Amino acid sequence: MIDLHTHTIFSDGELIPAEHLRRVENLGYEAVAITDHADSSNLDFIIPRIVKAAEDLNRFSKTRLIPGIELTHVPPEMFAELVAQARKLGAKIIVGHGETVMEPVRRGTNMAAILAGVDILAHPGFITKEEAGLAAEKGVYLELTGRKGHSLTNGYVARMAQEAGALLVVNADAHGPGDFMTAAMAETVALGAGMDRTQYEKLRQDMSLLVAGK
Ligand SMILES: [Zn+2]
Ligand SMILES: [Zn+2]
Repeated sequence: MIDLHTHTIFSDGELIPAEHLRRVENLGYEAVAITDHADSSNLDFIIPRIVKAAEDLNRFSKTRLIPGIELTHVPPEMFAELVAQARKLGAKIIVGHGETVMEPVRRGTNMAAILAGVDILAHPGFITKEEAGLAAEKGVYLELTGRKGHSLTNGYVARMAQEAGALLVVNADAHGPGDFMTAAMAETVALGAGMDRTQYEKLRQDMSLLVAGK
């Protein structure tokens, strides 16, 4: 089990990184990315601290903590520079907070995030065919989410990804200890979005490949 989109007290999550990691180690996770909400005001505050937590905790944990960030409600025009900054600061997984139907995310955010080369476009809502095609071309993973509300468009996102040949991930977008998904729950999210078991097995392999390259 791998999850690449989760939150701690470094944004609106509930746990500090050590407990966060311990909770998923206890669930048998192979890896987890901490991807707190950021814009230009806090990027340089969060990332070095999560990098430090990963360096410290990974020596003693069966689950690998991967330092990441979620660029959230940033103006689409700023995506490219913030992605570059985040990489420089040591973020290994960069999530773009996509155009979920639950929040007034600015139109153009999906496209800007994909063009900027985020690793994962989270909860992209009614992503267009063009955007999904570009994600496939650029190797940007599209997200099926376990998070209430954002998950309303999972079936649509899965279909668009499959038609475009874009890769998919399943993430919890966990904000607290009750949000972490078991492997069985993650599979339920994918199958519930219309994937079959073979497609889901490939998704798990694709997630492993993404982590292995980081
Ligand atoms: Zn949040
Ligand atoms: Zn999130």
